[in-house]
Amino acid sequence: MKIQKLIFLLTASLILTSCSSYNEADVNKEEFLAMDTYISLSAYGENSEVALANARREIKSAEALLSVTDPNSEISRINSSGGEDVVISDDTAQIINFALHLNELTEGDFDITLYPITKEWGFTTGEYKIPDKEKIAELLEVTGCENVIYGDNVIALPEGGAIDLGALGKGFAADKAVTVLKEKGITSALLNLGGNIAAIGGNPNGNPWSIGIQNPFGEGNAALLKITDKAVVTSGNYQRYFEQNGKRYCHIIDPKTGFPTDNGLMSVTVVGDSGLACDGLSTALFVMGEEKAIEFWRQQGGFDVIIITEDKRISVTEGIYENFTAEGGFTVEKVEKLQ
Ligand code: ADP
Ligand code: MG
Repeated sequence: MKIQKLIFLLTASLILTSCSSYNEADVNKEEFLAMDTYISLSAYGENSEVALANARREIKSAEALLSVTDPNSEISRINSSGGEDVVISDDTAQIINFALHLNELTEGDFDITLYPITKEWGFTTGEYKIPDKEKIAELLEVTGCENVIYGDNVIALPEGGAIDLGALGKGFAADKAVTVLKEKGITSALLNLGGNIAAIGGNPNGNPWSIGIQNPFGEGNAALLKITDKAVVTSGNYQRYFEQNGKRYCHIIDPKTGFPTDNGLMSVTVVGDSGLACDGLSTALFVMGEEKAIEFWRQQGGFDVIIITEDKRISVTEGIYENFTAEGGFTVEKVEKLQ
């Protein structure tokens, strides 16, 4: 509780500094803990106070819907169904539809059925361990989206199967928050759901928002990115991981092996219009590794990517290259579409 209070106080002081730079009287803020992370919402202009209260409510209901640890959530209802059909809400159906589509597009790299495996590694509780190879092989039998039967808001999992929408939840919640803010006429807002960013318009001065891309090697930013009306979502191996015998095990799992992804990437940031899509894609591209991720971007398009590697290179796709400024210590490379 004390740490939480400290975070609130620290952030409150930062906020004061940043709003004075806009010389803006009617900034409003909501700060709270939800979805296992610290959330900070800022909106400017008329109606922003009531709009932010609505946005907070949307994020809280997304949490209540999607939490894997809350026994009353819709996801828990699905996971405890013992192979039976479960009728789900339109919101959950929208996310599962997208997740299954992304699973196909990524040839299985993005997979919401890995929950039994992430649990075995201890990523759900913090009681980390390296499981036996036999145990992983056994669990891989019940994972895989091909084992999910889904259609018209009804889902059935195989016996022993369980899903986790952790790779999409914050992006989904951010989209919901953006929608209710826009409904109240908000034209300038910045939402930060534990590093999962959504911007409405630009800042109150009419300039783009300047977003820090976290340095995966330590404190501060690896780069700054200027954005207007975009979602910016990062997946990395530096947020949730444990180390054993000098090796790092991160919470993003390669569905082909059941082991934490270990492919030379430190982080993948995806920039696009939909928070849900950016959230899913950042996780998916992180699993793919550099070469396949760039190939995927070239084929799919509709979003931009920043990839940071263990050997301190940053690859930035052409759509955001001009709005991107790296800090020292990195080699920056522009990634272009092939003619
Ligand atoms: P975070 O939510 O920590 O910001 P991500 O959006 O990348 O990061 O989501 C990571 C979470 O997604 C993991 O904690 C786990 O619940 C789930 N996950 C792990 N591996 C995969 C995968 N290959 N495909 C889909 N979801 C995954
Ligand atoms: Mg994600």
